Amino acid sequence: MITAIVGCKWGDEGKGKVASYYAKDAQLVLRTTGGNNAGHTVIYNGKTLPLHLVPGGITYPQTTCIIGPGVVIDPAVLLDEIQMLKEYNIPDFDERLKISGRAHVIFPYHKDLDELHEKLKKHPVGTTKRGIGPTYSDKDNRIGIRIYDLLLEETQLREKIEEATILHNQNFANNGMADCVVDPAMLAHQYHEYGERLRQYITDINPIIANALDNDDKIVVEGAQAFRLDIDHGDYPMCTSSNCSTSGALCGGALPPNSSIEVIGIDKAYNSRVGNGPFPTKQSGSVADTIRELGHEYGTTTKRPRDCGWYDCCISNSAKHILGVNYLCINHLDTIGLIGKKLGYIKICVSYNYQGKVIDYYPDDISLTGEVPTPIYEVLSGGWEIDSSCKTYEQLPELAKKFIRIIEKSSHIPVKFLGTGPANDDLIIREDI
Ligand code: GDP
Repeated sequence: MITAIVGCKWGDEGKGKVASYYAKDAQLVLRTTGGNNAGHTVIYNGKTLPLHLVPGGITYPQTTCIIGPGVVIDPAVLLDEIQMLKEYNIPDFDERLKISGRAHVIFPYHKDLDELHEKLKKHPVGTTKRGIGPTYSDKDNRIGIRIYDLLLEETQLREKIEEATILHNQNFANNGMADCVVDPAMLAHQYHEYGERLRQYITDINPIIANALDNDDKIVVEGAQAFRLDIDHGDYPMCTSSNCSTSGALCGGALPPNSSIEVIGIDKAYNSRVGNGPFPTKQSGSVADTIRELGHEYGTTTKRPRDCGWYDCCISNSAKHILGVNYLCINHLDTIGLIGKKLGYIKICVSYNYQGKVIDYYPDDISLTGEVPTPIYEVLSGGWEIDSSCKTYEQLPELAKKFIRIIEKSSHIPVKFLGTGPANDDLIIREDI
């Protein structure tokens, strides 16, 4: 059985906690899309580990952890992460980490291209400038360089870099970035060395996956980013450059689509977003400030304040159809209770007014009509506090249960998991669902 953990909104929903819950007794855990623009917060022996590429499941000693062919890898970042994990003495780390040789490599010129594109664009996407978009573009243009290529002779790697950068170099030279023109020999030398350091982990992942499927092992896909950031189904072009929805996550992990699979959609009891693009339930002023303060909604690396707003059932309902979400996890049930206590009310968007109609899904043509849907809210009076003794759904405050019932009714998805705090075990699981 494959369990895919996917974000239902714009990321930072708290995927790490549920991924960790499933990884506890899984045999295989995979990261399958995106690059080091994503990642989870994982707790190991009381320490918080910021993981960007290695699956969080690595902290459980029985797992084999795969970085799949759909991921783009910055080798320097990955090597730093490996070193950090080894310092924590994670058992059998070297034997359990597997990197697909088909994953593509992020080079420094991809980061420079990110810079150049954002500089030249009238409407920048607000990318993380980690070279992820340009690496996926090169992959699509069939000039990408794969992890396998780092294992070639240095001269062969140099030839590949030379060929891949012909047009990029012209663009750098013609747009005031001549200092970014690539020196293929130098890069080949450095990246060949990275390849040697990664060699022991690089492999053909297909037999490992085939074996796990044949044995009916528990397989966990740690989704990166989220539904509204998917390049095909998200708010294009204000999105990421990969298919981070369920189907893309399966493809990026070489997992067959006819596998038996359950999809857990991870969400927060309010919503937040980084970067530009439509956000129908976005709030401003003191409501946004309250959500931001109580939810600690500041960028992990940039510390930039995130846009904040109320929970949106229409997006969840669309996630049910497009991502195949079977169950929801609503994190930050603790936080929304405090928000309600402070403001005196909590809102939940249950449908939209859009183009003169009431609808219960996220419309596809916002970029064409230019109309961001107007939320229709249900309002709860007051809020709640969840104390540490609360471990079951039944023990939750009545108002919190009402909040969950509204989400289930309007998004048409059962809520199986409830996050009641930041720690891994601040998670209520409804076994009856
Ligand atoms: P991801 O980007 O979706 O993988 O999000 P992470 O797993 O990194 O979680 C983002 C942050 O939310 C972390 O600091 C978590 O500790 C925190 N978090 C997750 N669930 C809850 C929750 O239920 N309540 C509170 N207060 N914090 C949570």
